[in-house]
Amino acid sequence: AIDSNFDQNRERAGDENGVAVWGPVEPPAKLGIHGTHVAVDYDICLADGACLENCPVDVFTWVDTPDHPVSETKVEPTNEDQCIDCMLCVDICPVDAIDVDAS
Ligand code: SF4
Repeated sequence: AIDSNFDQNRERAGDENGVAVWGPVEPPAKLGIHGTHVAVDYDICLADGACLENCPVDVFTWVDTPDHPVSETKVEPTNEDQCIDCMLCVDICPVDAIDVDAS
């Protein structure tokens, strides 16, 4: 599962598609955690898509991640500032790849 203390335990590695990326990042196999308020561990995400299909405010966008060993697409929380903290994505993710900081 995603480390919910990623912002303390990881280094900020930059930005992609307008969201923060928390390392380590070593493409194509290691892509880090994307987002801060809504955070997706790209190294766990298997592109199930339930979060993207069910988020009531369309926070997520598909992005291509060619040659990543788990899946070659991922969900980017491009609209994380729209999140209403419903926790649907956290509850629905089959591999616990998403953390939402609702505090
Ligand atoms: Fe969307 Fe709810 Fe997840 Fe926020 S917590 S990203 S509103 S599904």
